[in-house]
Amino acid sequence: MKEITILGSTGSIGVNTLDVISRHRDKFNVKALTANTNLDVFLDQCIQHKPEYAVMADEDCASKLEEKLKKEAPDVSILAGTDGLLQVAELETVDYVMAAIVGAAGLLPTLAAAKAGKRVLLANKEALVMSGKLFMDTVLQNNAELIPIDSEHNAIFQCISTANTSSISNIILTASGGPFLDTPINELSSKTPEQACKHPKWDMGRKISVDSATMMNKGLEVIEASWLFNIKSETIKVVIHPQSIIHSLVEYKDGSVLAQLGNPDMRIPIAYGLAWPERIETCAQRLDLFDIAHLDFKEAEADRFPCLQLAREAIKQGGTSCVILNAANEVAVNEFLNKRIKFTDIPTIIESVMSDITQNTANTLEVILRDDGLARNRALEIIGNMTL
Ligand code: NAD
Ligand code: MG
Repeated sequence: MKEITILGSTGSIGVNTLDVISRHRDKFNVKALTANTNLDVFLDQCIQHKPEYAVMADEDCASKLEEKLKKEAPDVSILAGTDGLLQVAELETVDYVMAAIVGAAGLLPTLAAAKAGKRVLLANKEALVMSGKLFMDTVLQNNAELIPIDSEHNAIFQCISTANTSSISNIILTASGGPFLDTPINELSSKTPEQACKHPKWDMGRKISVDSATMMNKGLEVIEASWLFNIKSETIKVVIHPQSIIHSLVEYKDGSVLAQLGNPDMRIPIAYGLAWPERIETCAQRLDLFDIAHLDFKEAEADRFPCLQLAREAIKQGGTSCVILNAANEVAVNEFLNKRIKFTDIPTIIESVMSDITQNTANTLEVILRDDGLARNRALEIIGNMTL
């Protein structure tokens, strides 16, 4: 029986994780759940899964939860804030931690899980983008197991298995192209948050949905892949594959290309991460090759997806450039979702922040958090000076 903490249980990845776990109660037990402010969904999850700990990052919500759970599930211990998140990420009795908080908010608890030597199921790509080397060193030094849950990285992980990375010539990340793949470029500036969040293939949280529409998601994934697989970013290619059936490919020196296929359903990589090196059942729809019939691939146009180039630029600059890129993106996406800037302002703001904030060597958490803060403030300043 493996004991599990789910960081971000009310989100899209969190809900899918609970779905997989619910079908395998003989193998997995929910030790702790965490959420930010979604009290209603979290309350239901606590009543259904009876975790030992329930953490709400928002202190007011935690008090309300405590009140409501008194009758329904009095044995659940309620914790609050970052301290609560850290506590359940490093609990001695926990084996696996699903890192599914969105954005930089997930960095500290995800790092804590690695430091405590857990199996870290990594969905929170922003944590790795921000802390790259520090995170990978922490995993290594503490004998943690790191299993990528992001579908592309999970696919690569499956295709690499025992291979030596020196035998790899390229990694090919597939991208759906998002909802605006065929939109005339001059119409992009009028796209609304609702349109941006309507992903054609995946049902995801709002932030990653916007990232998919700008393709910053793929940019973050190039950074993520370079750390996870210790591979130079120049050998990581991006291919648009609108059907989202091939989740990524690995090309080897000898000309062999291995790919992982499946219907777009996050329960597949989640189940793989939970059961690895075994495999367990999921309720994901089986792949019907006759139904698919053919697969399409195309190149990502640079003028449609400038965020992809910005991410590659950040990798080239090194140091805290990826921290700055990520922070500026989080602020810009949030402002877009709140209808304060246009869709096409997102890359412009990120580019300005990257040129205004000087990058530093990203070897300590203090430097990473400081540059994250500086970039966020600069992004807000730039937005404040913009006229809509
Ligand atoms: P989501 O918005 O649906 O859920 C986010 C979760 O994080 C929620 O439980 C929320 O309560 C929690 N959270 C948000 N802000 C917080 C804060 N400040 N403190 C503590 N908790 C906070 O997001 P999602 O789509 O589930 O994505 C989660 C992560 O997984 C992201 O990093 C995303 O890039 C990655 N990911 C998601 C998918 C997907 O299919 N959804 C696929 C690949 C990778
Ligand atoms: Mg992905």
